[in-house]
Amino acid sequence: MAVKSASNDYNLDRPKAPQVSRVLTASKVFTGRRGGIVDDGAVVIVDGKVAWAGPRGQVPDEYAALPVEHHPGATIMPGMVETHAHLGGFAYNAEPGVPDPEVHDSAWHALSAIKVARQLASMGVTTVQSLGARNFTDVAAREAIFQGLAEGPRIVASGPQITATGGHSWPTGGEVDSITQIRHMVRSHHKAGVDVIKVMATGGFGTSGSAPWNAQFTTEELEVIVEEAHRLGKHAAAHAHGTQGIRRAVDAGFDYIAHASFVGENGVTAFDADVADQMARQGTYVDLCSPPSYPAVEGETFTPHAKALYDHGVKVVVGHDIGAVYPPSAYRFGLMQMVASGLPVEEVLLAATSRGAAAVGLAGVTGVLEPDYAADILVVGGDPTERIEDLANLEEIIIGGRTFHPDYMPEFDIAQFGSGDSGYPLVQPGGLNARVTWIQRRQRAELHPAD
Ligand SMILES: [Zn+2]
Repeated sequence: MAVKSASNDYNLDRPKAPQVSRVLTASKVFTGRRGGIVDDGAVVIVDGKVAWAGPRGQVPDEYAALPVEHHPGATIMPGMVETHAHLGGFAYNAEPGVPDPEVHDSAWHALSAIKVARQLASMGVTTVQSLGARNFTDVAAREAIFQGLAEGPRIVASGPQITATGGHSWPTGGEVDSITQIRHMVRSHHKAGVDVIKVMATGGFGTSGSAPWNAQFTTEELEVIVEEAHRLGKHAAAHAHGTQGIRRAVDAGFDYIAHASFVGENGVTAFDADVADQMARQGTYVDLCSPPSYPAVEGETFTPHAKALYDHGVKVVVGHDIGAVYPPSAYRFGLMQMVASGLPVEEVLLAATSRGAAAVGLAGVTGVLEPDYAADILVVGGDPTERIEDLANLEEIIIGGRTFHPDYMPEFDIAQFGSGDSGYPLVQPGGLNARVTWIQRRQRAELHPAD
């Protein structure tokens, strides 16, 4: 299923800032494998890649000449992965202070994309998958970082989401209405350099008049997207709130489902065990967009079904809609929410590292501390394998063997979030208003005489 495209390899070894070969030692190493804990461990970095990892006393002699950095009381672990960000087009509610800001649309959102990407890296996220950006600003951001125009994380980019005309996120672009248009859209995305194909399989909350509980495409149409994406060596990822759309996307063979909130046709969220079991069998990756959940509408909650999905063996990953709904500072809070919802800490760390890398098509490239993986590494004060909140104590962030110097990051404050001070809208009111209107209309219709 996970076909690795050639494009996934290409930012491993591009020369820009120096890749410093060295030995890191710490009280603990978490390799990114289940049970992969080494006490009093060491990780050897050579030419931007992990050359060796294991007990400190067993570092092979061939690395004896390398400089050694000791981090007593710390844990060395793979850099983390945000599997569902938006690099460009949404963040910060800002625009240039000129009479006609629209002419600056692409440039402004590309700059915004770099800001979000850098802030994510500053939270310890060394790989970011962008699942939707107007004018392919995420592709431009990926190239800019790759070529050294900016420092930042590894980026896996989707460009604009494919959606129905007038469907969820239509202002981002990517509107299609037929099999032929779908094929053309996937192919032109490929031509524009995307790594992953993202489709809006259902409506969403952020687009007025798009119903999150209804599918936007038939199974047959979704199958064409998967067929074309896989032909080009790319993952297919589907945004899906409604159970109808989740089921169709899973039937169509999508690699990745975003949200999976199981909203029924009555608009109320209800976990569907059969669909979850099918996702588990097919190895579908699912993000939870957990922090701090969507605001509740009367009669429904959008608290993600994290524990139920995990209990059904679904491959849960860490994707928080960062850059669209949540700010980069929310990343660690999201991990803590996953732990709070009942997932073991090790499961959350696997989701954030090795599984996250596989989910974005980078299996064998990043997310694990073993020979020949990219040296995407965090040194964390304390022990995040015991206390997830220790991820606040980042002592060093290394991307491709290069030390990343983090931006200042504000503390994420759930109480302040959505108040307008955070710079992010909690959720644009259009979708929720549509939902309320829909409920009211149904209620009025029930009062209407039947004949
Ligand atoms: Zn999203």
